[in-house]
Amino acid sequence: MAKNVSKLNTKIWLSSPHMSGHEKKFIKEAFKTNWIAPLGPNVNGFENDLENYLGNKVHVAALTTGTAAIHLALVLLNVKQGDEVICQTKTFAASVNPVTYLGAKPVFVDSERETWNICPELLEHTIKDRIKIGVKPKAIIVINLYGMPYKVKEINAISKKYNIPIVEDSAEALGSSYFDQKCGTFGDMSILSFNGNKIITTSGGGALVSKNKELKSKIIYLATQAKEPGLEYSHVTTGYNYRMSNILAGIGRGQMEVLDNYVELRRNNFKYYLKQLSAINEISFLNEPEGFYSNRWLTCIIFQTNKMRDDILKMLELNNIEARPSWKPMHLQPVFKNYPKYLNGVSDDLYKKALCLPSGSNLTKIELDRIIKLIKQYFE
Ligand SMILES: *Cc1c(COP(=O)(O)O)cnc(C)c1O
Repeated sequence: MAKNVSKLNTKIWLSSPHMSGHEKKFIKEAFKTNWIAPLGPNVNGFENDLENYLGNKVHVAALTTGTAAIHLALVLLNVKQGDEVICQTKTFAASVNPVTYLGAKPVFVDSERETWNICPELLEHTIKDRIKIGVKPKAIIVINLYGMPYKVKEINAISKKYNIPIVEDSAEALGSSYFDQKCGTFGDMSILSFNGNKIITTSGGGALVSKNKELKSKIIYLATQAKEPGLEYSHVTTGYNYRMSNILAGIGRGQMEVLDNYVELRRNNFKYYLKQLSAINEISFLNEPEGFYSNRWLTCIIFQTNKMRDDILKMLELNNIEARPSWKPMHLQPVFKNYPKYLNGVSDDLYKKALCLPSGSNLTKIELDRIIKLIKQYFE
């Protein structure tokens, strides 16, 4: 009885880690063999698992974070001080921060409404305008936001036409696909994240996905302090300490065994919210366009007004439920306010009206019903 009562008000998280139990066997093995460090079988195993899962002949290097993966991708694309890099404005700051680590300048581009990702027309307009001004952008950072694939065909055609490479930020979209090809394979380089709130987690971690073996070797070289072969500590270029640990990769291997199941569970959360809330006229959902398959990392709903969204956000918080406004666009962030931006109003509008609901693969039906009941009550 007491147990049931306390459950009524337990915290419901937005997206919390969900261990399956399989993780422990890989960690135990690492302890048993004292393979705590350096790189070891779990790192190779985790990379193999990811390569097999993503298909499309990609090569994966496991790194400390998704942010580190973006940083290295930009280094390998030769982004330097004073260069410009185009970036979707509707994202989390980690997509953009590495641009400024390199002394380069982000140029923000707004989204389209169908996927919330970078708008093809506005992207092409931006490239033409930057070229006219006299600076050709060095790269385009595109996001698969909340797990929804970006408009790959249109965006990749523009990348090809102007010969500007794509860094695909797939931190939120492991398990998503676009016409049956997995997200994380569409950029010239793509990144993944295994941070604590993502669909699978290594507690903290990331990966850089590339198209060939030579590039993967180069990534690993840069990620291990750019040490030249041989016993001497010899360096000819700046290196980084960005490699994933063998213990954390063990967690990743266990998580890979349940990834498809977690995608299904998150998609079921979305379907349940849709079924229960779609009768409310003031709420709308983000549908998958034909051929788009989202892992539904987070279910986001859009309210008719900013006030409704803020009321519900506050009400959920009072009930010990963690919901969040959708990402605040980068062009509105004080830290990025002086950089060029090309806007169409979409990201500003979504920022005011969209709400991310608890979406973990470990949510129970009781928890989902608790959330849904509160939202329904507001509109009664
Ligand atoms: C989580 C996230 C990242 C960063 O990943 P870390 O592993 O936390 O560094 C980058 N981009 C987006 C869109 C993210 O959601």
